[in-house]
Amino acid sequence: MSSTWHILGAGSLGSLWACRLARAGKAVRLILRDEQRLAAYQAAGGLTLLEQDLTSHYAIPAETDQAHAPIHRLLVACKAYDAAPAIARLAPRLAAGAELVLLQNGLGSQDEVADQVPHARCIFASSTEGAFREDDWRVRFAGQGFNWLGDPVNPSVPQWFDDLHDAAIPAEWTVDILTRLWRKLALNCAINPLTVLHDCHNGGLLAHLEQVSTLCVELADLLRRCGQPEAAEGLDEQVQRVILATAANYSSMYQDVRHGRRTEVHYLLGHACRAAARHGLELPHLEQLHQRLVDNLKARGLPSD
Ligand code: NAP
Repeated sequence: MSSTWHILGAGSLGSLWACRLARAGKAVRLILRDEQRLAAYQAAGGLTLLEQDLTSHYAIPAETDQAHAPIHRLLVACKAYDAAPAIARLAPRLAAGAELVLLQNGLGSQDEVADQVPHARCIFASSTEGAFREDDWRVRFAGQGFNWLGDPVNPSVPQWFDDLHDAAIPAEWTVDILTRLWRKLALNCAINPLTVLHDCHNGGLLAHLEQVSTLCVELADLLRRCGQPEAAEGLDEQVQRVILATAANYSSMYQDVRHGRRTEVHYLLGHACRAAARHGLELPHLEQLHQRLVDNLKARGLPSD
């Protein structure tokens, strides 16, 4: 089985992973959106990674999904709403026993992907690393963090896991990946939509802590109903700690809205509301928050799903 890391999406996280794996001498190939993006990448001559005052350049080979070589290992590094359609196009190239690592934030896109490729192994990831694109093919590693990887249906550690350590990608295998993803989703639901609606950085929510706590009570109910009692424990306290620790930062959803980009709301607050409805659980404040956010996005001309 080939040990090449195919990486779908050379955006912020995809480029960060690609550069570190290439630096460690691993075989890496980027899969770009179309011929036009491939030509632009080739004209740039590779990816540039900026880490503090260090700038490094990696001439990583790239292709589109129309190339023919089979794919054994794929890091899916696009946004949650792009993941399933992108994988549907790539499915014919996936070798028997292929393994996919899904970097998408939130929940829902992982199952959409798995439905497209029932014979592949889908490994879910939850990342607290931070990166952003300064320009096309030029990515800044902005926040040290950690990556948890796990497979909800198969606890065995993938044979390539040491590649991550070799590449200095901080990562741990966990059998509780769903708990981590649910907890992160709940933190996101309690903070990010309110930063958009109140038009503030995370610290601005210190003026709205009662509203935050009310949401945390409903989110904790939801987590317990979804079979994630551990993710519900101490949620309100952790949300408040995150607000304090990141007071000067703007949430990812705030930044997406600010830059006129589509948000991942469908896989965050949208997923929470759909899960509540499926369980017949009434969460009026969460529902109202979702509706206000959808209205706000529509008013800005942004997709609301
Ligand atoms: P991003 O910078 O927008 O990058 C996404 C990339 O996917 C873009 O380069 C886009 O191509 C590419 N893409 C989309 N559809 C494609 C297709 N069909 N074929 C090939 N490439 C395709 O996004 P990101 O910030 O890296 O986020 C990726 C995921 O990681 C999100 O779910 C996000 O929530 C999560 N995450 C991000 C961070 C972070 O710090 N950035 C941290 C934790 C989690 P174009 O360049 O052509 O548009």
